Amino acid sequence: VRILGIEGTAWAASAAVFDAETDDVFIESDPYQPESGGIHPREAAEHMHDAIPRVVERALEHARETHSGPATVPPVDAIAFSRGPGLGPCLRIVGTAARALSQALEVPLIGVNHMVAHLEIGRHSSGFDSPVCLNASGANAHLLAYRNGRYRVLGETMDTGVGNAIDKFTRHVGWSHPGGPKVEEAARDGEYIDLPYVVKGMDFSFSGIMSAAKQAADAGTPVEDICYSLQENVFGMLTEVSERALSLTGSDELVLGGGVGQNARLREMLEEMCAQRGAEFHAPEPRFLRDNAGMIAVLGAKMYAAGDTIALEDSRVDPDFRPDQVAVTWRSGEPE
Ligand code: ATP
Repeated sequence: VRILGIEGTAWAASAAVFDAETDDVFIESDPYQPESGGIHPREAAEHMHDAIPRVVERALEHARETHSGPATVPPVDAIAFSRGPGLGPCLRIVGTAARALSQALEVPLIGVNHMVAHLEIGRHSSGFDSPVCLNASGANAHLLAYRNGRYRVLGETMDTGVGNAIDKFTRHVGWSHPGGPKVEEAARDGEYIDLPYVVKGMDFSFSGIMSAAKQAADAGTPVEDICYSLQENVFGMLTEVSERALSLTGSDELVLGGGVGQNARLREMLEEMCAQRGAEFHAPEPRFLRDNAGMIAVLGAKMYAAGDTIALEDSRVDPDFRPDQVAVTWRSGEPE
């Protein structure tokens, strides 16, 4: 089975081909880089409009080159696309492209939840059975675990996503988007200053710490110290709630997903916490952490095998698509 995946929820115009027999994932991505400020929805959609046909064509070329069947057989078995969550104008372009391809190639269409894809790629590459998943991405931050046919949201941010929170601070100090890697770099030379730390049960909040970080920058506190302390507190919060989720679910497996998962300090904290309680920790390779169509194609293949395809008329996109809205069809028969 070979699946063409298409991703374009925010900044990454991406297409991929996943071959379930060889486990090979070919990914072609074209990132949107704002000239100034953060992600502008209209500009991001214009980028998708230009870049999606290009990346899809490249992925299809790869599929044709590696296709061994007769020319009359389509080079892929289905088209999987991110239906949401994400920016509406971007999602609509991806949805239109996916529908057109499904019709042109006469193959089924699969509507994938982008957040569930962020966590399923970690389950796929780790081989873990029933992990707790920490999604630390730009627009989101969730703790999820599978129970009774759905990924349940055990905890989440009460305001902004973790990457967006960091990016807001870096915009304030005049750094270009994306800010996360720049904070990671600057934090190496920093010392700890006191910043807010807000965890409530398994939920958490970033707005207080971000306002305090901006105020500290305005007051002349060295930016390295703010970056270091931001990382310690924000990642400390994510580590604390992950530990609580492991403890309450009784799971001894944690997987990380999302673009902020590329941060070495976050991975180190989670790894240490897991080691201390005898749990296993897995972070997928960076190309699968940031937004990418590989994760859409991999989950698309699991959904395809479960017969979880959608009719064109039911395939509209959903900018607020929550992970717990997804009926998990591909795990039936697996342990709860
Ligand atoms: P979502 O998946 O929730 O829709 P998204 O589309 O914004 O979010 P991702 O690719 O998952 O995207 O994550 C992008 C975010 O990751 C950006 O906010 C960026 O600053 C952050 N990021 C990237 N590298 C690092 C790093 N090394 N440290 C911290 N944050 C990082």
